[in-house]
Amino acid sequence: MPLISDMKLTRNFRTEEFLVSRDFPQLADKLQPTQIHINNLYLLSATILQPARDILNGRYPEFKKKIKVIIMSGYRDPDLNAAVGGWPTSLHMEAKACDPRTDPIEHLEEFYDILLEFFHYAWIQAILYRDKNVAHIALPHWGVPRLCEIR
Ligand SMILES: [Zn+2]
Repeated sequence: MPLISDMKLTRNFRTEEFLVSRDFPQLADKLQPTQIHINNLYLLSATILQPARDILNGRYPEFKKKIKVIIMSGYRDPDLNAAVGGWPTSLHMEAKACDPRTDPIEHLEEFYDILLEFFHYAWIQAILYRDKNVAHIALPHWGVPRLCEIR
């Protein structure tokens, strides 16, 4: 399979942004997403992340610098998932989940509220980790129950 990890998914999201780990960069470098994984990253970006980012920035037309959405964790293979202490059945391993934060971080809670209000039909898991300053959002997956909470 050709290397397509630099593929642009939507206006502001690229595949490589989902192949990251701050604590385990050597494991992130080894990630080899399949076409199915890339497709799921596209669905995350096109149906949730990009439109949510657009709504957030639309509220602040006076800002000279756009509010960015940074992916802290996206696709994980089993090695990376184990290293970061992910659930054994984590949807990150399907590339159906990601952990976004905003830059500046002050807009994270507002971004999360947008995910809940406007994109409730598109996700199966939405979690806001207040202590870690990051959210978790996941696409529907067979057998996975719906979950929405703030931790
Ligand atoms: Zn997550």
